[in-house]
Amino acid sequence: MDIHEYQAKEILSGFGVETPSGALAYSPEQAAYRARELGGERWVVKAQVHAGGRGKAGGVKLCDSEAEIYDACEGLFGKKLVTHQTGPEGKGVYRVYVESTVQIAREIYLGFVLDRSSQRVMIVASSEGGMEIEEISIEKPDTIVRSTVEPAVGLQEFQAREIAFKLGLEPGQVQAMVRTLQGCYAAFSELDATMVEINPLVVTSDSKIVALDAKMSFDDNALFRHPQVAELRDKSQEDPRESRAADRGLSYVGLDGNIGCIVNGAGLAMATMDTIKLAGGEPANFLDIGGGASPERVAKAFRLVTSDSNVQAILVNIFAGINRCDWVAEGVVLALKEMNLDIPVVVRLAGTNVEAGQKILAQSGLPIIRAGTLMEAAERAVAAWQSDIGQSAKTLGAAI
Ligand code: GDP
Ligand code: MN
Repeated sequence: MDIHEYQAKEILSGFGVETPSGALAYSPEQAAYRARELGGERWVVKAQVHAGGRGKAGGVKLCDSEAEIYDACEGLFGKKLVTHQTGPEGKGVYRVYVESTVQIAREIYLGFVLDRSSQRVMIVASSEGGMEIEEISIEKPDTIVRSTVEPAVGLQEFQAREIAFKLGLEPGQVQAMVRTLQGCYAAFSELDATMVEINPLVVTSDSKIVALDAKMSFDDNALFRHPQVAELRDKSQEDPRESRAADRGLSYVGLDGNIGCIVNGAGLAMATMDTIKLAGGEPANFLDIGGGASPERVAKAFRLVTSDSNVQAILVNIFAGINRCDWVAEGVVLALKEMNLDIPVVVRLAGTNVEAGQKILAQSGLPIIRAGTLMEAAERAVAAWQSDIGQSAKTLGAAI
C-alpha cells in the first residue's frame, strides 16, 4: 500500500527525521489560509498523488503570495496529474500540501528497499539528489552508496556515519545524517514498510538535514498489525478494480486487453497470460482465487472480472492442488446461472477432482467451452472472443 507524501513526512518526523513545516489543504481557500498560518514569504504547493515525478509534471509550485497559492491550487484541484509514474490516465488531485520553503545547499538521494538477494534492508544513497534513482544509476553510477543492514542489530551508528562520509557530508552535518538514517530505518522496520524514499534529502544553508520529499510503501500482508498505517489508505489513488478485489480478499491486477483470466496462483497467472498472448489475444486482467476456494469465492471472482467492461471473453485456468475442480466448476455454474453472461467462457481444469468438475460443467446445460490443455484453452478463448466480436459487429451492422 502506498501513502501520500504528507503522511510519510508525518510518520518519519515521529521517528526523528526533520521535515519542513507544512499543512494540508482540501481547497484553494484553505491552502491560502494554511500558508498564512505557516507564516513566511515563500511556500511550495505540492499536489498529493501516489506517484513521483510531480515536479516535472507541474504538480509542485513555488509561490510568493497567497494569491499565487490560490492560482496554483485552482490549476491542481480536481485535475488529473499525469507524471511518468502515473500512466497516461493520471491520478486525481484532491489534497495539496503547503510547505514553508527551505534554503537548499545540497540535494541528496536516499532510499530504503528490501533487497531480495541478500534478504536484508538495503540503503541506497547518492550525492546526486533531485534526479530519479533510475537516471542516477545510468548517468552517475559511481555516486551511488549501498549498504545492507544486519537485522539482528539494526542500523549501527558507525555504518550510518560511513554512509554520511561517503556522501561527502561535512563533519558538522554527520550527526544529523546519522539521526535521519536511523529514523528512516526504524520507521521502515517497525512499520513493515517495503520502501522509504527521500528525494531530495537536502542539506540546508544552515547545515540541517531535511526531508524535502518522502515516499513510503507498506507490506499489505502486515497491515493488520498497523491499524494506524492501514487507515492512511486513499482509494482515490488506486485502480478501482483492484481496490474492489482487495476489499473482498482477492488479488486482482487490471490490464489493457479483452480476455479476463481467473486462475489460482501468481505463477499460473503469468503462464496463462503468456499463452493468451501466444494465441494472439490480450489479457484484460487476472484474478487469483488463491488456494481452497469455495464455489462462492469463485462466483465472486466471476462477478469482479465481468464488472470490467473491457472483458469480452473469460478464461478460467485452474490447476487444483489444494483447490478442488468440482468446487471451481460449481462456482462457475453458480455465477453463470445468476449473471446471464453473454460473453464466451472457456474453462480448463486440471488436478484434484477433475472428473467431478468436468461432469458438473457438462451437465450444467450452459454454453461453457471446455479445454484440456492450457494452449487449447488460450486458443479457444481467443477464437471465441474473435468470433464473438465478429458476431456483434454483424448484429450492429444489421441494426444500422
Ligand atoms: P517529485 O517531483 O514528485 O519527486 O516531488 P518533490 O517533492 O521531490 O519536488 C520536486 C522538486 O521541487 C524538488 O526536487 C525540489 O527541487 C523542488 N522543491 C520542493 N520543495 C522545495 C522547497 O521547499 N524549496 C525549494 N527551493 N524547492 C523545493
Ligand atoms: Mn521527489
